[in-house]
Amino acid sequence: MATSAEDVNTKNEKGGTFHCEACGLRETYHYYGRQPPFHRAITFMEDCYLAKDPFRGGGCGSFLLLGAMCVACGRTVCQAASCSLFYARRFCLACASANLEEFPQEVQQRIKKKAAN
Ligand SMILES: [Zn+2]
Ligand SMILES: [Zn+2]
Repeated sequence: MATSAEDVNTKNEKGGTFHCEACGLRETYHYYGRQPPFHRAITFMEDCYLAKDPFRGGGCGSFLLLGAMCVACGRTVCQAASCSLFYARRFCLACASANLEEFPQEVQQRIKKKAAN
């Protein structure tokens, strides 16, 4: 993997820079993990990158899920429908397409539609 001058996707609980390895999106994240300190009522099913919602603020617990790691290939991918899919676990679209038969029919249809775009 190419080294970058900038540290991205460092899985730091205190935040850093999120970088989607599929589309190249870059965002500042404020927390990595399953239980964001700014939203105690929530526990995620995966470790993910979260950013506080800049448009609400005020510590009322609004946040944006930026993305998470693909369980199959380990790439970090964003939430965009064209980059990843959550079905029990997170998959990047490339892995989802490569393992189509592992998913139920209905999800396969979704993947095919996305991959066609
Ligand atoms: Zn992306
Ligand atoms: Zn993958």
